[in-house]
Amino acid sequence: MKLCDSIGSILRSKDESRVLSVTPEQSVYDAIEKMAEYGVGALLVISGEKLVGILSERDYARKVILKGHSSRETLVREIMTYPVVFVSPQHTVDECMAIMTQHRFRHLPVVQGDTVVGVVSIGDLVKWIIDGQAQTIHELEGYITGTYPG
Ligand code: AMP
Repeated sequence: MKLCDSIGSILRSKDESRVLSVTPEQSVYDAIEKMAEYGVGALLVISGEKLVGILSERDYARKVILKGHSSRETLVREIMTYPVVFVSPQHTVDECMAIMTQHRFRHLPVVQGDTVVGVVSIGDLVKWIIDGQAQTIHELEGYITGTYPG
């Protein structure tokens, strides 16, 4: 669990690596309902097989609520963000942290060839880093107390 690990290893370690999506023609209400149902903060927007946008709670807050629009009458395509910044499974944890920090967003789709194979959130990356640090501390304690590699 290191910064140089690949995003592919994070995806493999996740209990759920399903890709949650909506279509551009669905209503924002449907999208928010799906986010609530699955406990996520963003959905990919997929048309046909193609990744055409991303919709996060932030888009809803800023482009619907603040503007006084109705989520039932607004379509996903009207407020989604595109083009989408994505990574491949070969990207490393630190590369993805840098991309998210630079762009100030918390979700990155993972694309292999033309297929979306998963999504990583900033929470997934932080968890991976913390788990790696705990493992290092455990090994160092073992080294100091003489029980290493125990
Ligand atoms: P987030 O912090 O991920 O909730 O998203 C903040 C803003 O960035 C929202 O407008 C999202 O639609 C947008 N956004 C999030 N992830 C991406 C991405 N991977 N590529 C492009 N825009 C994104």
